[in-house]
Amino acid sequence: MSDKGLVFNIQRYSVHDGGGIRTIIFLKGCPLRCPWCANPESRKAVEPTTWNKNGQEETIGEWRSVDELVDQVMKDEIFYRTSGGGVTLSGGEVLMQSDFAAHLLEEFYNLGIHTAIETTGCFPVKKIKTLVPYLNQVLFDLKIMDEHNARQVIGTNVSIVKENFEYLLNETDVDLVPRIPLIPGFTDSSENIKAIIDYLLALGIYDVHILPFHQYGSSKYEYLGWEYTMKDVDTLTKAEVNTIKNMFEDQGIQANIDGLE
Ligand code: SF4
Repeated sequence: MSDKGLVFNIQRYSVHDGGGIRTIIFLKGCPLRCPWCANPESRKAVEPTTWNKNGQEETIGEWRSVDELVDQVMKDEIFYRTSGGGVTLSGGEVLMQSDFAAHLLEEFYNLGIHTAIETTGCFPVKKIKTLVPYLNQVLFDLKIMDEHNARQVIGTNVSIVKENFEYLLNETDVDLVPRIPLIPGFTDSSENIKAIIDYLLALGIYDVHILPFHQYGSSKYEYLGWEYTMKDVDTLTKAEVNTIKNMFEDQGIQANIDGLE
């Protein structure tokens, strides 16, 4: 298993992305290209990225060893234990560095720390299988359900996403949490939401988390010198989010509005 991985951020004291107080470790690299991405500096290859922030050149991403990260993260052990929290690996896409992620999760799991990952499940199922023995929870994004649109817009394969989701649901004991990034013009159409509802009902799932769109990542596109096509898109109103929430709840699916994607 890989001993070093490329990490582009570590967020302490997070109360999102899993239960309790958590440390979120952001792994670099993501093969998708969601136009709304709030962490564009994580995208593309597993290699450092350079951006120019207010005239200062900065390198994003640092190779870190498992031991270093465990030492750093365990300094907040008391918070995890007293709050029911733990460690979440996020990205980017965690499965891009699946060997390193498995190694890191194994260490935390063996220390009795609650472990979670965030994923879009866009890799062959054998990758996620290597993580499962050391995972308590998977926060699994369901975005665009139409195969053609998903491929065109974000570059993912819905049948692989479903294969991963169903593997976790049917063949493992992990706590599988479906999450719906609610993105104006991309995932919030009635057609897409109905497709998600039908999919969840067919699998007997009655609980989802909704992550409304935000603009927190917009300045990062400027630093990278990239075009940000969502610049003028308004965030959804509370009423619009509630309309979607009601679509789930009318079908008996509890919809929790989460932090922001
Ligand atoms: S999967 Fe996440 S990190 Fe990757 S492009 Fe989409 S929003 Fe960004």
